[in-house]
Amino acid sequence: MIYQDTFGFAQQQDEQDELKSFRDEFLFPQHNGHKVIYLCGNSLGLQPKSAGQYIKIQLDNWENFAVEGWFMGDDPWLSYHKALLPTLSGLLGANDREITVMNSLTVNLHLLMVSFYKPTNKRFKILMEAGAFPSDQYAVESQVRFHGFNPKEAIIEVTPRAGEVTLRTADIIAQIEDNADEIALVLFSGINYYTGQLFDMESIVKAGHKAGAMVGLDLAHAAGNVPLQLHNWGADFASWCSYKYMNSGPGGISGAFVHERHFANDKLNRFAGWWGYRRDKQFLMQPGFDPELGAQGWNVSTSPVVLMAMHKASLDIFEKAGGIVPLRKKGDLLTGYLEYLINNINQKQGEEVYRIITPKDQKDRGSQLSVVCKRDARAIFDYLAQNGIIGDWREPDVIRLSPVPLYNSFTDIYHAAEGLFKALGATNA
Ligand SMILES: *Cc1c(COP(=O)(O)O)cnc(C)c1O
Repeated sequence: MIYQDTFGFAQQQDEQDELKSFRDEFLFPQHNGHKVIYLCGNSLGLQPKSAGQYIKIQLDNWENFAVEGWFMGDDPWLSYHKALLPTLSGLLGANDREITVMNSLTVNLHLLMVSFYKPTNKRFKILMEAGAFPSDQYAVESQVRFHGFNPKEAIIEVTPRAGEVTLRTADIIAQIEDNADEIALVLFSGINYYTGQLFDMESIVKAGHKAGAMVGLDLAHAAGNVPLQLHNWGADFASWCSYKYMNSGPGGISGAFVHERHFANDKLNRFAGWWGYRRDKQFLMQPGFDPELGAQGWNVSTSPVVLMAMHKASLDIFEKAGGIVPLRKKGDLLTGYLEYLINNINQKQGEEVYRIITPKDQKDRGSQLSVVCKRDARAIFDYLAQNGIIGDWREPDVIRLSPVPLYNSFTDIYHAAEGLFKALGATNA
């Protein structure tokens, strides 16, 4: 697309946008009587208007059926999760049995590492990206310690080259190869939360397996943002949260993927609970854990129906929008437009006041730009917020802006860039 730096161009793109009607399915915080420009879906997606109704149905079922709600009503609680799987498996690129919904993301990383991080004295290391999301770092460190190893020796972090901010795939693979005899697990994010870099997950999985390691993926910023092919890539496991690009509410229910090649492997450790038991025999209440065949065999506790209802409200919108492919296309256009407008500001200023650290190539990023502000970054961020433009702030000087194709428009992007420009004058930054 040839972009133009005019409001008329943005309006015209909105008119032609085949996904434009989905914006009306979401609730926006208000600023001076107007919807805010919400570019923070990488942190917390907006609420679908339908979410309240989906929850109300479950409250009504609880009221009307009480304990029998597990088996009665249009969508009995006992099998409610099944209604989530077709859309989720499309977004994740897996078959239905490889996906389950449970817990929250960090908890799932722990449960999955119980199964897939099986260190020996010779092969005990975990390779991950430097600057991974802190919760992942804490989870990995504590897993390593739990097995009696020292995190300083057991964790290998892949760092960018001097003077660079993002990682090169060749460097990730080289480091896996260099440590091939010692790596037990490669745990990488799909998209780095800070830089917005989308990693070449397929190549990472391949290299990890070639080294004899298990490979897990944290898809917090990738799920619902970019197309994924977990099954075909052959990842051993993955997890994600549903409250970022998947708009399923703060602390919403997470999901997990386990590749089908592991279903029948009874040598994998599991921290078991009755919700992972064979569904046909779960209520016989027999001793001896006999897991459901599939990712569901990793569930532990009773599924939270209200959280699943919020998740369903959002997944139904993804379904109506035609899934991730058209969304990714629009997300790329919006992100490209924001990039273009920011570059124009820099040109007008005669210097790179806003340095985009997210990769330039669309195949290396999703719907997010991380922008380093060369002037008073915090003042600029605050100016944006005071003017109804919501991004998010990462210390020391990064503003993350995420154009979400389901509810952001080209005029949103135009206004956001206008805000970035005006902020320079208004803040004397
Ligand atoms: C958002 C995010 C988390 C959050 O984990 P919770 O357990 O849901 O609080 C963890 N890891 C990554 C990479 C994230 O982006």
